[in-house]
Amino acid sequence: MKILIVEDEQAMRETICTSLQKEKFVVETASDFSSAMCKVNDYDYDCILLDIMLPGGSGLDVLRELKRLHRSDSVLILSAKDSLEDKVTGLELGADDYLTKPFHLAELNARVKSLIRRRHSKGEISLTLGNLTLFPDDRSASVSGQALQLNRKEFDLLYYFAVNPNRVIHRTSLAESVWGDNIDQADSLDFIYSQVKNLRKKLKQTEASVELKAVYGFGYKLTLL
Ligand code: CA
Repeated sequence: MKILIVEDEQAMRETICTSLQKEKFVVETASDFSSAMCKVNDYDYDCILLDIMLPGGSGLDVLRELKRLHRSDSVLILSAKDSLEDKVTGLELGADDYLTKPFHLAELNARVKSLIRRRHSKGEISLTLGNLTLFPDDRSASVSGQALQLNRKEFDLLYYFAVNPNRVIHRTSLAESVWGDNIDQADSLDFIYSQVKNLRKKLKQTEASVELKAVYGFGYKLTLL
Protein backbone atom coordinates (compact mmCIF):
# COMPACT_ATOMS: atom_id res chain seq x y z
CA MET A 1 0.00 0.00 0.00
CA LYS A 2 1.47 3.22 -1.17
CA ILE A 3 1.46 6.65 0.40
CA LEU A 4 2.63 10.03 -0.85
CA ILE A 5 3.77 12.65 1.64
CA VAL A 6 3.62 16.20 0.32
CA GLU A 7 5.35 18.37 2.89
CA ASP A 8 8.05 21.01 2.51
CA GLU A 9 9.37 20.98 6.07
CA GLN A 10 12.17 18.47 5.88
CA ALA A 11 12.15 17.32 9.50
CA MET A 12 8.39 16.81 9.48
CA ARG A 13 8.52 14.98 6.14
CA GLU A 14 11.25 12.64 7.31
CA THR A 15 9.60 11.91 10.64
CA ILE A 16 6.30 11.01 8.98
CA CYS A 17 8.11 8.97 6.34
CA THR A 18 10.00 6.92 8.92
CA SER A 19 6.89 6.38 10.98
CA LEU A 20 4.82 5.13 8.03
CA GLN A 21 7.65 2.93 6.78
CA LYS A 22 7.68 1.29 10.20
CA GLU A 23 4.02 0.51 9.58
CA LYS A 24 5.23 -1.23 6.40
CA PHE A 25 3.76 1.23 3.94
CA VAL A 26 5.56 2.08 0.73
CA VAL A 27 6.24 5.79 1.07
CA GLU A 28 7.12 8.42 -1.50
CA THR A 29 7.68 12.08 -0.80
CA ALA A 30 7.38 15.45 -2.52
CA SER A 31 8.81 18.62 -1.02
CA ASP A 32 7.32 21.27 -3.26
CA PHE A 33 4.32 22.01 -5.45
CA SER A 34 5.76 21.00 -8.81
CA SER A 35 7.13 17.65 -7.64
CA ALA A 36 3.77 16.93 -5.97
CA MET A 37 1.98 17.63 -9.26
CA CYS A 38 4.40 15.35 -11.14
CA LYS A 39 3.86 12.53 -8.64
CA VAL A 40 0.07 12.67 -8.71
CA ASN A 41 0.04 12.84 -12.48
CA ASP A 42 2.30 9.80 -12.80
CA TYR A 43 1.15 7.50 -10.00
CA ASP A 44 -1.84 6.34 -7.99
CA TYR A 45 -1.63 6.32 -4.21
CA ASP A 46 -3.70 4.70 -1.53
CA CYS A 47 -3.36 7.83 0.53
CA ILE A 48 -1.86 11.28 0.02
CA LEU A 49 -0.80 13.38 3.01
CA LEU A 50 -1.04 16.92 1.77
CA ASP A 51 0.42 20.08 3.23
CA ILE A 52 -1.26 23.24 1.88
CA MET A 53 1.43 25.92 2.00
CA LEU A 54 4.09 24.66 -0.40
CA PRO A 55 7.01 26.29 -2.18
CA GLY A 56 5.77 27.07 -5.68
CA GLY A 57 2.05 26.69 -5.08
CA SER A 58 -0.86 25.55 -2.95
CA GLY A 59 -1.80 22.04 -1.91
CA LEU A 60 -5.36 23.05 -2.76
CA ASP A 61 -4.31 23.13 -6.42
CA VAL A 62 -2.98 19.58 -6.05
CA LEU A 63 -6.47 18.65 -4.86
CA ARG A 64 -8.02 20.43 -7.86
CA GLU A 65 -5.71 18.44 -10.13
CA LEU A 66 -6.74 15.14 -8.50
CA LYS A 67 -10.36 16.12 -9.02
CA ARG A 68 -9.73 17.03 -12.64
CA LEU A 69 -8.10 13.62 -13.15
CA HIS A 70 -11.14 11.92 -11.51
CA ARG A 71 -8.84 10.21 -9.06
CA SER A 72 -9.89 8.32 -5.99
CA ASP A 73 -6.67 8.54 -3.92
CA SER A 74 -7.60 9.25 -0.30
CA VAL A 75 -6.32 12.65 0.81
CA LEU A 76 -5.50 13.70 4.35
CA ILE A 77 -4.74 17.40 4.67
CA LEU A 78 -1.95 18.33 7.07
CA SER A 79 -2.94 21.85 7.99
CA ALA A 80 -1.42 24.63 10.02
CA LYS A 81 -3.16 25.61 13.25
CA ASP A 82 -4.73 28.81 12.03
CA SER A 83 -5.98 27.83 8.60
CA LEU A 84 -9.62 26.89 9.04
CA GLU A 85 -10.38 28.25 5.60
CA ASP A 86 -7.89 25.89 3.95
CA LYS A 87 -9.43 22.93 5.76
CA VAL A 88 -12.94 23.85 4.66
CA THR A 89 -11.87 24.48 1.07
CA GLY A 90 -9.86 21.26 1.11
CA LEU A 91 -12.80 19.17 2.25
CA GLU A 92 -15.02 20.86 -0.34
CA LEU A 93 -12.48 19.95 -2.99
CA GLY A 94 -12.70 16.29 -2.05
CA ALA A 95 -10.12 15.77 0.71
CA ASP A 96 -11.24 12.96 3.04
CA ASP A 97 -9.90 14.19 6.35
CA TYR A 98 -7.53 16.68 7.92
CA LEU A 99 -5.11 16.76 10.78
CA THR A 100 -3.91 19.95 12.43
CA LYS A 101 -0.20 20.39 13.11
CA PRO A 102 1.36 19.52 15.45
CA PHE A 103 -0.09 16.03 15.73
CA HIS A 104 0.95 12.76 17.29
CA LEU A 105 2.35 10.18 14.90
CA ALA A 106 0.08 7.54 16.43
CA GLU A 107 -2.90 9.70 15.50
CA LEU A 108 -1.60 10.12 11.96
CA ASN A 109 -1.04 6.36 11.57
CA ALA A 110 -4.54 5.61 12.80
CA ARG A 111 -6.10 8.14 10.41
CA VAL A 112 -4.12 6.82 7.46
CA LYS A 113 -5.15 3.24 8.17
CA SER A 114 -8.75 4.21 8.57
CA LEU A 115 -8.74 6.15 5.28
CA ILE A 116 -7.19 3.25 3.43
CA ARG A 117 -9.69 0.86 4.92
CA ARG A 118 -12.57 3.14 4.00
CA ARG A 119 -11.27 3.52 0.47
CA HIS A 120 -10.81 -0.18 -0.20
CA SER A 121 -13.59 -1.81 1.71
CA LYS A 122 -16.18 0.92 2.27
CA GLY A 123 -15.61 0.85 6.02
CA GLU A 124 -15.47 -2.90 6.47
CA ILE A 125 -12.58 -4.26 8.52
CA SER A 126 -12.02 -7.12 6.11
CA LEU A 127 -12.34 -7.88 2.43
CA THR A 128 -13.85 -11.20 1.36
CA LEU A 129 -13.69 -12.92 -2.00
CA GLY A 130 -15.12 -16.44 -2.09
CA ASN A 131 -13.60 -18.27 0.88
CA LEU A 132 -10.65 -15.86 1.07
CA THR A 133 -10.71 -13.05 3.63
CA LEU A 134 -8.09 -10.32 3.93
CA PHE A 135 -7.56 -8.14 6.99
CA PRO A 136 -5.58 -5.06 5.92
CA ASP A 137 -5.16 -3.67 9.45
CA ASP A 138 -2.78 -6.42 10.51
CA ARG A 139 -2.06 -7.77 7.03
CA SER A 140 -3.41 -11.20 7.80
CA ALA A 141 -5.48 -13.50 5.62
CA SER A 142 -7.58 -16.61 5.95
CA VAL A 143 -9.10 -19.27 3.72
CA SER A 144 -12.32 -20.82 5.04
CA GLY A 145 -11.43 -19.43 8.46
CA GLN A 146 -7.95 -21.03 8.51
CA ALA A 147 -4.99 -18.65 8.66
CA LEU A 148 -3.17 -18.24 5.37
CA GLN A 149 0.52 -17.59 6.05
CA LEU A 150 1.79 -14.79 3.84
CA ASN A 151 4.85 -12.61 3.98
CA ARG A 152 4.29 -8.87 3.80
CA LYS A 153 4.90 -8.47 0.07
CA GLU A 154 2.69 -11.46 -0.68
CA PHE A 155 -0.07 -9.90 1.38
CA ASP A 156 0.30 -6.52 -0.32
CA LEU A 157 0.19 -8.15 -3.73
CA LEU A 158 -2.82 -10.29 -2.91
CA TYR A 159 -4.61 -7.30 -1.42
CA TYR A 160 -3.93 -5.27 -4.53
CA PHE A 161 -5.41 -8.06 -6.64
CA ALA A 162 -8.36 -8.45 -4.29
CA VAL A 163 -9.41 -4.80 -4.51
CA ASN A 164 -9.18 -5.11 -8.30
CA PRO A 165 -10.84 -8.48 -8.94
CA ASN A 166 -11.20 -9.70 -12.53
CA ARG A 167 -9.00 -6.88 -13.74
CA VAL A 168 -5.85 -7.64 -15.67
CA ILE A 169 -3.05 -5.88 -13.83
CA HIS A 170 0.19 -5.05 -15.53
CA ARG A 171 3.34 -6.33 -13.88
CA THR A 172 4.69 -2.79 -13.69
CA SER A 173 1.59 -1.57 -11.84
CA LEU A 174 2.02 -4.41 -9.37
CA ALA A 175 5.66 -3.53 -8.83
CA GLU A 176 4.78 0.14 -8.31
CA SER A 177 1.97 -0.62 -5.91
CA VAL A 178 4.15 -2.76 -3.72
CA TRP A 179 7.58 -1.13 -4.06
CA GLY A 180 6.92 2.46 -5.11
CA ASP A 181 8.70 4.22 -7.95
CA ASN A 182 12.17 4.08 -6.44
CA ILE A 183 12.92 0.50 -7.40
CA ASP A 184 14.87 -1.22 -10.08
CA GLN A 185 12.30 -2.30 -12.68
CA ALA A 186 14.05 -5.46 -13.87
CA ASP A 187 14.73 -6.76 -10.35
CA SER A 188 11.25 -6.00 -9.18
CA LEU A 189 9.64 -7.78 -12.14
CA ASP A 190 11.63 -10.91 -11.33
CA PHE A 191 10.57 -10.55 -7.75
CA ILE A 192 6.90 -10.09 -8.71
CA TYR A 193 7.15 -13.25 -10.74
CA SER A 194 8.47 -15.29 -7.82
CA GLN A 195 6.06 -13.76 -5.29
CA VAL A 196 3.07 -14.42 -7.53
CA LYS A 197 4.30 -17.96 -8.02
CA ASN A 198 4.44 -18.47 -4.23
CA LEU A 199 1.04 -16.89 -3.80
CA ARG A 200 -0.55 -19.16 -6.39
CA LYS A 201 0.96 -22.18 -4.69
CA LYS A 202 -0.35 -21.11 -1.28
CA LEU A 203 -3.81 -20.34 -2.65
CA LYS A 204 -3.92 -23.73 -4.31
CA GLN A 205 -2.65 -25.63 -1.26
CA THR A 206 -5.25 -24.05 1.00
CA GLU A 207 -7.99 -24.62 -1.59
CA ALA A 208 -8.81 -20.95 -1.86
CA SER A 209 -11.65 -20.22 -4.24
CA VAL A 210 -9.65 -17.56 -6.06
CA GLU A 211 -6.93 -17.95 -8.63
CA LEU A 212 -4.20 -15.69 -10.04
CA LYS A 213 -4.21 -16.12 -13.77
CA ALA A 214 -1.23 -15.14 -15.85
CA VAL A 215 -1.96 -13.00 -18.88
CA TYR A 216 0.98 -13.76 -21.10
CA GLY A 217 3.38 -10.87 -21.65
CA PHE A 218 1.26 -8.48 -19.63
CA GLY A 219 0.50 -9.38 -16.05
CA TYR A 220 -2.02 -11.21 -13.92
CA LYS A 221 -5.61 -11.15 -12.83
CA LEU A 222 -7.44 -12.52 -9.86
CA THR A 223 -10.55 -14.52 -10.62
CA LEU A 224 -13.06 -16.36 -8.48
CA LEU A 225 -13.23 -20.09 -9.14
CA1 CA B 1 4.28 23.96 4.41
